[in-house]
Amino acid sequence: MSLFERAQKVLPGGVNSPVRAFRGVGGSPVFVRSADGAYLEGEDGTQYLDYIGSYGPLIFGHRPPEIVAAIEGALERGTTFGVPTASEVELAELVCSAFPAMDMVRMVNSGTEATMSALRLARAATGRQRFIKLAGCYHGHADAFLVAAGSGAATIGVPSSPGVPSAVTDDTLIAPYNDLGTISDLFELYPGEIAAIIVEPVAGNMGLVPPVTGYLAGLREITRRHGSLLIFDEVMTGFRVAWGGAQVKYRIEPDLTTLGKIIGGGLPVGAYGGRRDLMQQVAPAGPVYQAGTLSGNPLAMAAGTAALRLLQQKPQLYDRLEAAGAALEAGMLEAAKRHGVPLRIQRDGSMFGFFFIDRPVECLEDVDASDHELFSEVFHKLLADGIHMPPSPYETLFLSAVHGKKEIERTVEAFDRALAS
Ligand SMILES: *Cc1c(COP(=O)(O)O)cnc(C)c1O
Repeated sequence: MSLFERAQKVLPGGVNSPVRAFRGVGGSPVFVRSADGAYLEGEDGTQYLDYIGSYGPLIFGHRPPEIVAAIEGALERGTTFGVPTASEVELAELVCSAFPAMDMVRMVNSGTEATMSALRLARAATGRQRFIKLAGCYHGHADAFLVAAGSGAATIGVPSSPGVPSAVTDDTLIAPYNDLGTISDLFELYPGEIAAIIVEPVAGNMGLVPPVTGYLAGLREITRRHGSLLIFDEVMTGFRVAWGGAQVKYRIEPDLTTLGKIIGGGLPVGAYGGRRDLMQQVAPAGPVYQAGTLSGNPLAMAAGTAALRLLQQKPQLYDRLEAAGAALEAGMLEAAKRHGVPLRIQRDGSMFGFFFIDRPVECLEDVDASDHELFSEVFHKLLADGIHMPPSPYETLFLSAVHGKKEIERTVEAFDRALAS
């Protein structure tokens, strides 16, 4: 019996997170036994060049020695204490030093917890219940975020999963990404009722969709004008697009920020933070309850601190990632042109989305309109060629510090072969 068959008997769909099951592209997932640098090693010994990067955390690739050493060091001192440690203070200080809009931060165990808690805080701080979510942005799997747009542009969300009560999603308003008009309409429809807008400042959960010029500034202006909070979900973009995330890169200061992925250095960490007057409302400093048995876990704090220190020591890394991303983009576009295949690439440094479509992709509807069948075909050809892309056009590719010239060239050649056949 294959590992996947065994898995399906004891794990729903054979996995612990849906996208891993390959439902988006068909076929069976690769089981991996180890990884090093830019490469995964399958259970059968096959090597794969990895563009999943564990969906975001691995900006230094697999098993960077500095992070491994930090985890080993922490392990010798203990795995969890349930009492405060210096490591929590160190990581919090690093995060706050990187994000000018974050005076204080609370560590949690996942991005899901971070966004869920930030929303609770925003609702508490404003005394309002409704919030706006943008279609195609992903904020983890808490009930309030598991909504799909109803009919029409400006709508109240409907549950996108069974088990999510409509009572919860009734307060989630949905607007298309990159569309300020609908946001204005919502504020007019629900005056004084909207606690916050939560947004991925660079959307990375529908392929990659950058904000159009003026979009983030528009969200900042309209929330300020209406006494609502702006929450940047930088679980993916934080420390990925820049030291200090998309908010530093685009020069927009949100009220609250959520983080995850890179700040855990490959271990499970999330965080939310922001203005001091807001964060002081979180328990026990204030009344907004939120807690966690393993929050601020010393192994995770050590891994995260090591990752951020590495980034701090090597600010030129972001230029290298940008150059590698640009080379991959140029090579893939050239191949597509050679074969007459409409290809759209959207990228922010080392975050990378490619769509088989002949126009810019600015919102979820555009992603839906791209050729998913061709994506699946190309995905499987690349996989057979030893290149493991994320198994869905709705996921972003991630380059890491160890994706070098050799890796980029190999990918472009494989992409060219995939389009030729
Ligand atoms: C990954 C992600 C999350 C959820 O984080 P988990 O650690 O998977 O719970 C939330 N928001 C964004 C933008 C993400 O990319």
